[in-house]
Amino acid sequence: MNPSNRIHSAISRRNFLRGASLTGAALAVSPWNARTAWAAALPFTGGQAPAAAMSAPPLVDAGFAAARKVGEGIYAVISDPSKGMETLCNGGFVFGKDAAILWEGYASPKGAAFQLDALQKATKVPIKAAIDSHYHFDHSFGNAQYAAAGIPIWAHAKVVPLMIERYVSLQNRDKAAMFAPAETHLRDAISEDDKKHAESDLGTLKFLANGIDNTVLALPNHSLAPTDLPMKVDLGGREVVIETHPGHTPGDLILRVPDADVVFTGDLIFNHSYPVTFDADVLGWLKTLDVFGRYGRKTVFVPGHGALCGQEGVELLKSVFADLAQHARQMAQMGVPLREAQARYAVPEQYKSLSLFTWGFCIDQAVAQFYQAAKDGKI
Ligand SMILES: [Zn+2]
Repeated sequence: MNPSNRIHSAISRRNFLRGASLTGAALAVSPWNARTAWAAALPFTGGQAPAAAMSAPPLVDAGFAAARKVGEGIYAVISDPSKGMETLCNGGFVFGKDAAILWEGYASPKGAAFQLDALQKATKVPIKAAIDSHYHFDHSFGNAQYAAAGIPIWAHAKVVPLMIERYVSLQNRDKAAMFAPAETHLRDAISEDDKKHAESDLGTLKFLANGIDNTVLALPNHSLAPTDLPMKVDLGGREVVIETHPGHTPGDLILRVPDADVVFTGDLIFNHSYPVTFDADVLGWLKTLDVFGRYGRKTVFVPGHGALCGQEGVELLKSVFADLAQHARQMAQMGVPLREAQARYAVPEQYKSLSLFTWGFCIDQAVAQFYQAAKDGKI
């Protein structure tokens, strides 16, 4: 039996309900309070999204997420973590005359259930697949809801091994190794701010650890090899294209709807937010943003986090990366040690309204990669 089937078959109703209670349990123990940190800064309304879509009344609004029509047979689910962490990331669904595709597995089965309910309000066509854009917990921990409903779960071929390595193998096991780098960072903090950053990182890791132990993890059961991508899927008078692009993790997918000029980007776009880079390839990511920049001026992006956006969202993310790169290059040129270079990055005034998941997850790895690239003469 392959690992994917084993995990699927492990889903019992009891375990499933245990998994469904992740959100409450995790919130209760987490020093990372989404209401005062990450979530508070996310722009959920207004903005410069090119579509009138965001002003449309929602098909369904659960507080923690709302599903809105962004085109014929195309709905975006935009999360508001300040009102609950069931979904946490954005997603949505697309359908034609014959079939539908769900985008994202969300942070909990309740999040995935919200999306299923929304789809069923919009159409009765059969569901061809649910796609996780990448392996991160907030895009995959709700998969059990889809698995229980018999919906095939598709993902990039890197997702299953990464979920096994980072989540499944740690479930109900000692997690000292997971906390060790942040604990070392905390112990060796070089300033008060640096100490706060390390505490925040540690809080996030403990939140994640709790989620790992209290979620029924369902792995994707249909892996898409990069050599098979881009892949066109005919949903009946509606074609979607699944592509892979480098950047956020070792295996990210996007979903394009060419006839409507809508792109579901997963976390390759964080709108109005510092990007999460802890397992990113930042130079690859910049190339991906250049690709997005060549899409049309009217393209509607459904980002992984934050409000719907157009090209201004791509431009903003590029400018944030440019600022991080400039800082890292300057530090490298001055011979400042990397650890200090990471701690010395200061959020500029114009980015103070952006959300920041945690310092270590967003800033440290980006600075480290740009610092090395500067030393190698690549930037
Ligand atoms: Zn992510």
